[in-house]
Order: sequence, then C-alpha cells, then structure tokens
Amino acid sequence: MSPLTHLVGSWLVAVATTNNSRDRKLVTLAGVLPDADGLGVLPDVVGSWLSGKECTFYFYQTYHHLLLHGWPGAILISVILTLFARQKWRVLLLCLLAFHLHLVCDLIGSRGPTAGDLWPICYSEPIFRHPIWFWKNQWKLDGWQNQIIFILAFLASLWVAIKKEFSFFELFSSRADKIFVSVLLKWRNRLLKNEGERSK
Ligand SMILES: [Zn+2]
Repeated sequence: MSPLTHLVGSWLVAVATTNNSRDRKLVTLAGVLPDADGLGVLPDVVGSWLSGKECTFYFYQTYHHLLLHGWPGAILISVILTLFARQKWRVLLLCLLAFHLHLVCDLIGSRGPTAGDLWPICYSEPIFRHPIWFWKNQWKLDGWQNQIIFILAFLASLWVAIKKEFSFFELFSSRADKIFVSVLLKWRNRLLKNEGERSK
C-alpha cells in the first residue's frame, strides 16, 4: 500500500494503544519506515536527470521491499525507535505490531500493473533469501481496494483528530498539527451551527 495509507493506518493503531504523544509518534513511524528502503528512487531519478539517460529505477527495484520488509528490519527499526520511548516494552511490542501490519498490507495490496506483477514479502531479507511469501490475489497498488481503505482510514483519522484534538500531522510538526486541528474544529462547529439552525 502507499506510504500515506501506512502512515494514517499506523497512526490510528498508535492512538488506540498509546497514552502519550512521543510513543504515539514512534509507533506510527514503525508502520511507515519499512518503505524507507524505497528511497533509492531518489538517486535513480536524480542520476537519470543528471546523466540524461533513461531512468531504470535500479536502486528502487533492487532494494525496495528487500532491505526493510522482513524480520531483520522489524527488529532493527523497532529496537531503535524503542530507545526513545517512554513505555519501552509496550512501544517495542507495538512497533513490531505496526511494522508487521505494514507487511500484511503490502502482501495483500502492492501488485504492479499486470496480473503477474506480484510483489512478494521476503521475510528474512536481507539476511536470508527464504521464506518468500506472496498472495496470488494481491490487488494493485493503485487499485480501488487500496483507495477505499485509504479513504476510510483518512475519514477515521479526521474523526479521531476532532475528538482528541491532535492529528497525524503531529508526526511532522506540532504547529501544522495545531493549524489542521483548528480548521477541522471550525468546520465541525460550523456544521453543528447549521444543523442547529435548521432544526429550529
Ligand atoms: Zn512497504
């Protein structure tokens, strides 16, 4: 699934399972960071642009889903994030959970454009080649299933943001988070006012 879906989904898990902002951010990050192994796309594109040659996406194709989409990545990322946590054992387990939720989501919804373009999870990479898991009914990365999941998760995150008065923007900046939440609350209040006037 897309990094944005992973972000919103992991944040929802983190909101439901942690009791402070720092731990919430760490658990959210654990659900997003596996896709850091796709950052090879940057040198791919920049290299092609500088050399004028066609972009082959060499780094992206070689390392995405291989460096950080298995148990070695799960342990590495979860342990590093846990170093910064308030409730360490709890965050360690939740980071492992968010990380594996990411893997499951990729397993079911990360196919390429053609039916045979399945994207497997190589669970022991980059240390061992096997096991390799794939699901033959894996849907497309940009398929309608992923779009519906994203829309539902996004709407749920807006609802949570209004209830709790913080949003997934907290991951990037507390200022952006405050602005986003204040806009949401303004919309909610306007809606409630309109409803109230209509029912009079
Ligand atoms: Zn992924």
